[in-house]
Amino acid sequence: MNTPVIGVLALQGDVREHLIALAAADAVARPVRRPEELAEVDGLVLPGGESTTISKLAVLFGVMEPLRARVRAGMPVYGTCAGLILLADKILDPRSGQETIGGIDMIVRRNAFGRQNESFEASVDVKGITGDPVEGVFIRAPWVESVGAGAEVLAEHDGHIVAVRQGNALATSFHPELTGDHRVHALFVDMVRGDRAAESL
Ligand code: GLN
Repeated sequence: MNTPVIGVLALQGDVREHLIALAAADAVARPVRRPEELAEVDGLVLPGGESTTISKLAVLFGVMEPLRARVRAGMPVYGTCAGLILLADKILDPRSGQETIGGIDMIVRRNAFGRQNESFEASVDVKGITGDPVEGVFIRAPWVESVGAGAEVLAEHDGHIVAVRQGNALATSFHPELTGDHRVHALFVDMVRGDRAAESL
């Protein structure tokens, strides 16, 4: 089967690291800023960064509504950290003007693990990833307060939910793109492949 094309929302955040990780996981990866670019990808990564900034820029670039529409239509999407916040149906403590794309029935708490200087790394067991635990890099990371019936918890750290999947939407509080371990990206690339296979039936 030919290689899936996966976009990285490139409005703000650690875009480059995701492009590299996706390419290492055998996808064609490209930055996405505009609705026309979004229309051409099979799946999308929402990077870490600042969720309020990304959401405001998405509205400004006219890409927020197209993003919501594609996620609602089942496009595979993977959000890390700020990207996880963008996939939440509800934020517990939104900043003014902060919107989400939604897609995962979960409530998130921003900056829940503390401030920038309280960032840390920890081994995380992620359901669906075989072998050693994933090294989780948590940078001013959110956690998931609770999930609804449709969402599956894939990982917890210290009793808090840090990875979730609902259908074609995947989200982690931590940043696998910063570690050189591409297994989480490979899991997402597999989700995109599976979705393409299902669509061509
Ligand atoms: N705290 C940031 C936010 O609210 C997320 C931090 C990150 O993506 N590393 O968007």
